[in-house]
Order: sequence, then C-alpha cells, then structure tokens
Amino acid sequence: MGVIRPYKPMKASLVHLSKFHDPDYLSLLQSGPPPSLSPKESLDLLDSYNLVDDCELPPTPSGLKVLWNYVTSVAGASIHAASLLTPYGSTPKRDSAGRPVRDVRVALNWGGGRHHARLDGAGGFCYVNDAVLAAQYMRRKFGKVLYLDIDIHHADGVEEAFRGSWRVVTVSLHKFHQGFFPGTGEAGVGSGGAELNIPLPDGVTDADFKPFYESVFDTVFTINETHCRGGAFKAVVLAVGADGLHGDPVVGRDGWSLSTHGLAGAVAHTARRCREMKVPLLVLGGGGYDDVNATRAFGICTVAACEGVKPGVLSRLPPGAPEGEYFHRYGPTFSLHTSPTERGTYGGTDVGRGRRRVEGGMEDARGVLGGWKRIVEGKVDGGFRYDEEGGGEEGNEDGEMSKDGMSVNGELGKDTKPRAQDTSDDGGDNDDYDDADENPNAALSASSNTDKDAE
Ligand SMILES: [Zn+2]
Repeated sequence: MGVIRPYKPMKASLVHLSKFHDPDYLSLLQSGPPPSLSPKESLDLLDSYNLVDDCELPPTPSGLKVLWNYVTSVAGASIHAASLLTPYGSTPKRDSAGRPVRDVRVALNWGGGRHHARLDGAGGFCYVNDAVLAAQYMRRKFGKVLYLDIDIHHADGVEEAFRGSWRVVTVSLHKFHQGFFPGTGEAGVGSGGAELNIPLPDGVTDADFKPFYESVFDTVFTINETHCRGGAFKAVVLAVGADGLHGDPVVGRDGWSLSTHGLAGAVAHTARRCREMKVPLLVLGGGGYDDVNATRAFGICTVAACEGVKPGVLSRLPPGAPEGEYFHRYGPTFSLHTSPTERGTYGGTDVGRGRRRVEGGMEDARGVLGGWKRIVEGKVDGGFRYDEEGGGEEGNEDGEMSKDGMSVNGELGKDTKPRAQDTSDDGGDNDDYDDADENPNAALSASSNTDKDAE
C-alpha cells in the first residue's frame, strides 16, 4: 500500500552547499560584497560570479537574508528528499511500536531542479545547484546515478559538474538554438558516453516526445548495465521542467508543445521502470513560467511518480482541478490538463510544414541516440561534439566531494572545496541527513510503508 507524505524542507548548511559550491561564492551569496569595496569594484565582483541580470543579488541585508533562506531551503529540500530514499531490499527501520518508519522508493522536490547554477556562479534564476548536490549525495549513498533532465533548457550546470564522470551520467533533452538560453547543449555525446545531449525540435508534441523519451531512458539504462563503466545505475534523478509546455510565456511561441500528459507520461515511465529495476527515484522540478500550468503539471506528475509505488494510479486521477482557494484560476476549463491546439502547436505556421519540421527534428534526435549507442557499444570510436580528453578513463569527478570535505556533525571540514579530479569514493551514507526521516521536515516523498497518513 502506498502513501504520500509531505515534509517541511530541512535547510542546507554551509557545509552541505560547500560540497559543490566555491566558498567565496557562497560567502558572497550570504553576505554580499565586502563594504570596503567601491561601487564599481562591487559590481565587478558580482559580475565575475554572474550575480547580475536574472540572478541579481539583493542590495539590502534583509534581501540577502531572504535569498539565503531560499537557497538553503531549495538545496536542503533536494538533499533531504534524496536522504529519505531507501534501497530496495533493505530492512526498514522500525519505531517503538515495531512499525516501519520509512520505506521510500520515490521522493520529489518540485522546488528543486536549479540546474543552471555552477560551482562558482549563478545562472538562469539558479543560485545553487540542488540537482548536483542531491546527485552527489545519491552517488555516495547508492552508487552510480543516472541524471535525466527534460526541462526545455540545457542542464548545463549539472553536465559541467559531472563532465567525464561515469558515476553520475547526465542526459539532457532540451531545445538548442542560437540565442536560446543557455546556448549550450549542442547535439552530441561527451566523454565517450557519460554525457548525452539531445536537442528536440520546436513544436514537439506529446506523441513525438513520449515514445522518444521512453526509448532514451530504456536505451541508456539498459546499455549502461552491459557496456559502460561502473555498470548498472543504482539510482535515478529526473528533473522535470514545466517550461516545455505549450505556450510557456518565457520560452515564447517557438518552444515545445507538450501538454501535461506528455510530461506525466515521462515521469510515469521512469517511475515504473525504476520500480521494475529496483532503483530509487528522485524527481525534481525546473522551469515553468505559466504558474497555473506549472501547478497543473507538477500536480499530475506527482501522481505519475506514484506509479513507482502504486502502478495504475495515474489512470485513476480525476481530470478536474481540485476545489480550493485558487479554483477560479483553472478556468475556463477547470481541468488539470493542458491541451494545445494543432495550429497553436506550430506557432501559427502552416500545419503541414510545421509537422514536417518536427518530424525532421525527431529523426535527428533518434540519430543522436543511435550514435550514443554505437559509441558505448564500441562500434565506433569516441564521441562527437566533445573531444575525448579525459573522458572515458578516470574521468573528471568535478562536483564530487572528497571525504575530507564531508562532515558528519555539520561543522565545516578543513577541505570543503570540490576537487576537479577527485576520484575518491567515500561510500556509505554517513551524512547528517541520514536520519532525516526521524525529523520529518523534508520534501514530498512517495513511500510504500504502512503509514496511515494518506492514501
Ligand atoms: Zn528551463
């Protein structure tokens, strides 16, 4: 019997954030530029960490406090959600009455997925990269991690953090076009297969997206087990942006044309396959700038993620928006679902021409996946787009912390700076989030224990 249990997020400490981010960058985020600097020097300093434009630093102490509260909450929730996951086959802890305390296979943080933040810089509304921090945590706790990202923007910060690492393999489906943020993510395979970037065409619909996503997931998952360094994945992180929904106001008319069905289909497939293969799943959010549609998407995708615990539950979801304070905002359909019109799907251009353009783009996407498969199966040498420097051998473990930087008691370790070439494996789950379940204040988790909180 499955249950859904909401948790209040635990905040990340400086120690947790320092497992990936540069201490000087964190200090700037927390306290702002030193008062001794001139206005120009302050501006130059902020610019050097990309704390400008869409990632400005608040100018007042109270504003900085709000920002710090936000970044520690976002990162804390994702790490905490990851910490709640338990391996299949493990014996759940029990409370004093002998009931299982937790047995969590799927955990979610829709506030997370800040995939553009870098080790020492902000980007695209992302100040800290909770996705990297959570993947690091899961790599240490479970072993090899598959990170999948279906936000319409390239997962540049996550890819950069784990580039060359076969311990966290990154796969990003996104839009790639000149002038489209962040400008990276050209089609191709990096580090002999440890990174895979597949751009999808403007106007891509659920009918194109769903089978392709499923083939990407199944191909990458299955072939890693047999052909790639480190073997099978032991855990999965899926970042789900809602900005691929048709009509997203920030992306504009040339974006994807998915509906909530398309996103939910991808989440449900991932959850079902993770259940079958007995690997824990962490689901994170991402962009999504029509707040009502993003709410619809994350609501439906929450149910889709429960397919990893209770198969069939998505098909039983009532289509209507739930009654409540914001019910009027779901009008005029008052539905949880979104459904773009065919003409709207292609940005008002000729439907036949638009359709041919999408089909051509999907053919290219299938070609990239096929290229990845041939590379990792050893049928062709190397990758394309990236050179093979450092990839496929020891790899670059950038973003993965050494044991020295770990702290069990929450105090800042002596060496808290991530090492670009750190290949240590600190193993186990000796982190201070370990007993998070006994301090029930993390993100949302879908669990399969016998708790009676909710059905
Ligand atoms: Zn996005």
